[in-house]
Amino acid sequence: MIGTARKPMEEILEALDGYERITVMGCNGCAKACKTGGEAEVDDMVKALDRAGKSVVWQVTPERTCYIQHTKGSLQGHEQEISSTDAFLVLGCGGAAQVARQAFDEMGVIMPVKIGLNSVGHLDTVIAGKLAIEQCQECGDCVLNETGGICPITKCAKSLLNGPCGGAQDGKCEVDPARDCAWALIYDRLKALGELDKLKIYREPKDYGKSNKPRTLVIG
Ligand code: SF4
Ligand code: SF4
Repeated sequence: MIGTARKPMEEILEALDGYERITVMGCNGCAKACKTGGEAEVDDMVKALDRAGKSVVWQVTPERTCYIQHTKGSLQGHEQEISSTDAFLVLGCGGAAQVARQAFDEMGVIMPVKIGLNSVGHLDTVIAGKLAIEQCQECGDCVLNETGGICPITKCAKSLLNGPCGGAQDGKCEVDPARDCAWALIYDRLKALGELDKLKIYREPKDYGKSNKPRTLVIG
């Protein structure tokens, strides 16, 4: 999921300066899981905007705001609310806000779309409802088959591909001693799998051209 954290209210109000009638759009996907943009957080934002003197016209929480069909579907039949709105505030990731802007573009509506969250990375839940961490940087050329299923690009502070830097102490990373050294984890895992010979394979520098932005995927 895309991890999100709420922007400070002062920053949100600054973005909404000059816009009085606001619609708040949440996201029942990742932002709900992060407790930043589900229905409860949209309710909280509506109250905060009300306290700040804004007039909230409407609130809506598509199933997944980054899916154009969900976002457009949630807007259909609400032409009156849309025409009464000066600006939309999206409590979703940067992708959700841009898809919302695209939905308005496709409807022929020039709508200011502001964002109330900061996107902090593609994270995966490791403790349900409590903790998500980055597991993969979507490099486009996965090496998990050779590293015991542990990603050195993401979990090593230096993204080393050919073994440890030598600075680890007691299995902890020299960059952040609170974290395990990724290559110590990879070594332990390969040893348990009887695949330590994989450590002898030299890996060429990665072709980061495969992750040129913006990346695209032709679906189907
Ligand atoms: S090597 Fe790491 S960053 Fe690249 S695709 Fe695999 S898990 Fe993701
Ligand atoms: S100590 Fe381990 S995880 Fe940290 S930078 Fe060195 S090799 Fe990478």
